[in-house]
Amino acid sequence: MTAQIIDGNALSKQLRTEVATRAEALKAKGVTPGLAVVLVGDNPASQVYVRNKVKACEDSGLHSVLEKYEATMTEADLLARVEALNNDPGIHGILVQLPLPAHIDAQKVIEAVSPAKDVDGFHIASAGALMTGMPGFWPCTPYGCMKMLESIGYELRGKHAVVIGRSNIVGKPMALMLLQKDATVTVAHSRTQNLKALTLQADVIVAAVGKRNVLTADMVKPGAVVLDVGMNRNDEGKLCGDVDFEGVKQVASHITPVPGGVGPMTITMLLVNTLEAAERASK
Ligand code: NAP
Repeated sequence: MTAQIIDGNALSKQLRTEVATRAEALKAKGVTPGLAVVLVGDNPASQVYVRNKVKACEDSGLHSVLEKYEATMTEADLLARVEALNNDPGIHGILVQLPLPAHIDAQKVIEAVSPAKDVDGFHIASAGALMTGMPGFWPCTPYGCMKMLESIGYELRGKHAVVIGRSNIVGKPMALMLLQKDATVTVAHSRTQNLKALTLQADVIVAAVGKRNVLTADMVKPGAVVLDVGMNRNDEGKLCGDVDFEGVKQVASHITPVPGGVGPMTITMLLVNTLEAAERASK
């Protein structure tokens, strides 16, 4: 079997077109969806991420503001900026790019963002909403994974999903989203014993670790769906995921590539969340 590729670029294009259409409808009512991206310091990877996010907004007809500050910015000054953005009616979503400089308490800043504008879905109120099945904002990366499963018409009810990784931004929310769709979910992490025994039982595997070849073909049940969240570099310096793509693609029924898989979906879901925030605010 050779797996069908779930193309994150193609799906993103389709979803971003839908975002642009909904943004136009809001604009006709006098509301332009607006995202504020706040960057503190000069982390090169963060600079690329925020540029991509701002460009994606512009391409989909969303208004975006990029606020860049020196790495020496104080925590108090950053909290004051967040508060100003919370009170800005032209801004519907606020994203503070992580990581923040060490002298700033990132959790404190995340909690300072109004839950109504928490388009990253990192606020404790958003996490609580996801856990209890209440309306809120879902973290963009696992939300994108759910859209990828939806795009292939995958019925999760009663299926066994194994999520490898338990971070607050990917693994744990991913597990909750799968659970909400009636999958039976196993969460694996660095202390898990005999990962292969678990993954071999899985109908769906989400790898969100940050290490190459965490999942190899011998660990995958024939016909399983494999989503690769990882972003790593191989020996040639090329971007690669957590999954041995060439091997696993011979066993799985569907697989996401890296690059061109989950990555573009993450930014797309940020646009979706921002639009959703603007729609809710305009009701
Ligand atoms: P993280 O906070 O470092 O979490 C990694 C998780 O993997 C932890 O729960 C860790 O377990 C677990 N782990 C480590 N080694 C393991 C092993 N050998 N077997 C099983 N589990 C293991 O990372 P993250 O923020 O969730 O990100 C994970 C990966 O996704 C990274 O490569 C990141 O760059 C990528 N990512 C991609 C996107 C995207 O848009 N494509 C977005 C976000 C993240 P413990 O909890 O026990 O330490």
